[in-house]
Amino acid sequence: MPWLHGWSTTRIVTQSRRSDDADTASPLGSTRCDRAMTPASVDIAIIGAGVAGAATAWWLRQMDPSVSVALIERDPQFAQASSQRSASSIRQQFSIPVNVALSQFGLRFLQEAEERLAIDDQGLALGLTLPGYLYLANAAQAPGLAAQNAVQRGLGADIQLLDPSALAARFAWLNTQDLALGSHGEGIEGWFDGPALHMAFVRAARALGVHWIAQAVEGLEFQGNSTQAPRAGAPVHAGHSRIQAVRLSDGSLLRCGQVVNATGAWSRGLAAMAGISLPVHARRRTVFLLSCPTVLPDCPLVIDPSGFWFRPDATHPSGGQRFLLGTTPTIDADDLPLEPQLQEFSDELWAQLAHRVPAFEAVRIERAWAGYYEMNVFDHNALIGPHAQCPNLLSITGFSGHGMQQAAGAGRGLAEWILHGQYRSLDLSPLSPDRILRNEPLLEANVIG
Ligand SMILES: Cc1cc2nc3c(=O)[nH]c(=O)nc-3n(C[C@H](O)[C@H](O)[C@H](O)COP(=O)(O)OP(=O)(O)OC[C@H]3O[C@@H](n4cnc5c(N)ncnc54)[C@H](O)[C@@H]3O)c2cc1C
Repeated sequence: MPWLHGWSTTRIVTQSRRSDDADTASPLGSTRCDRAMTPASVDIAIIGAGVAGAATAWWLRQMDPSVSVALIERDPQFAQASSQRSASSIRQQFSIPVNVALSQFGLRFLQEAEERLAIDDQGLALGLTLPGYLYLANAAQAPGLAAQNAVQRGLGADIQLLDPSALAARFAWLNTQDLALGSHGEGIEGWFDGPALHMAFVRAARALGVHWIAQAVEGLEFQGNSTQAPRAGAPVHAGHSRIQAVRLSDGSLLRCGQVVNATGAWSRGLAAMAGISLPVHARRRTVFLLSCPTVLPDCPLVIDPSGFWFRPDATHPSGGQRFLLGTTPTIDADDLPLEPQLQEFSDELWAQLAHRVPAFEAVRIERAWAGYYEMNVFDHNALIGPHAQCPNLLSITGFSGHGMQQAAGAGRGLAEWILHGQYRSLDLSPLSPDRILRNEPLLEANVIG
């Protein structure tokens, strides 16, 4: 394995430690596959057990059961994890080929996931529903939508362009007066139960023998007995600052060959421990659960030209219909408390909603929640792969609102890179963090919210 260069291949356990028992109260409390002794050294330490870290762990053990993997999570309740606060929708309407391809794989994976991730007789229901995304464009936006459609179709994504009369015929509840074009991916886009997928990856990874460590990583130890991270912006040279261990909140060290930063909205802080400036910022997004007395037949996930989105809530049907709704906040500072911002449902937004769907005049807010986008402010795309400044630190972060659907493909790719030193199925090199050092952003035009 190329990545083992510089790492002792001796996997002798020199000291043992019990995992924190906090997981007994966690959503994972029923899976007790890994409460035994945890090792003092592993081949791969994955920090953060959200969907990105858990998927990477699962793929690593799927591909090579001989590697030892630890999944380190500071909060087994996942109280703030984005993976438990996601709107969990999946689309192929991206502007960049690698994003289209990642979500195409994500869809294929979801179609098999209930079987692939099921453990023993525990059933798994992910509620995959595929009525499509419907991007709506006014006259100024229509040429861009059509150009992106050509890219998507060229990659095999069967996205239909609909003019206003076709839109009105297909969706009688939609006001098409001020629209010039829509693009609709029925059968290949929709939504699913993302929190359930997240939990399924965690459980399945643990069932495959991934070590579960319920602690926070509070520091990194570098080769040469240095606990000091390299200075930010220090010159990069080969072999510089390899991590040899992660320091856990109980003060112990876990030696490791490779370290994966899967800490989502907190990944900038983790990278800073290695002297790396990662442009990933925690940006709060509020999701509203609405009820509407009128049912909108065949309603897809709709993205309005003004920026808000809504979709039926497949998991909680009641009288009438329920919908999730989100929009881009006017104040978008870092690390704001995770309180839902009811004032974002302004009179202006309500008017825009009722303009687009007259039946929404009667919507009511049932509840709301907030979660962090792990926003890559450099170019709104995932950062996947090793860092030149610290070759055995790899990131899987910065998904900027599309990480739930991309986690399966991103985790598979990162596992391939770790095990083989190259991507074998889908080439994720366009998403390498190296593009930050080169100052070459890979701009995604379709970022929602
Ligand atoms: C409101 C909202 C709507 C969304 N809608 C969609 C959508 O429709 N479709 C889509 O694809 N994506 C969507 N996303 C994005 C998606 O949910 C995220 O991209 C994805 O969940 C990120 O997963 P993650 O594993 O990177 O991060 P997280 O799930 O946040 O996991 C990171 C974990 O790292 C842990 N951690 C942090 N620091 C440390 C440390 N030092 N030591 C140990 N553990 C640590 C945290 O406790 C956390 O559990 C949405 C996100 C939000 C907030």
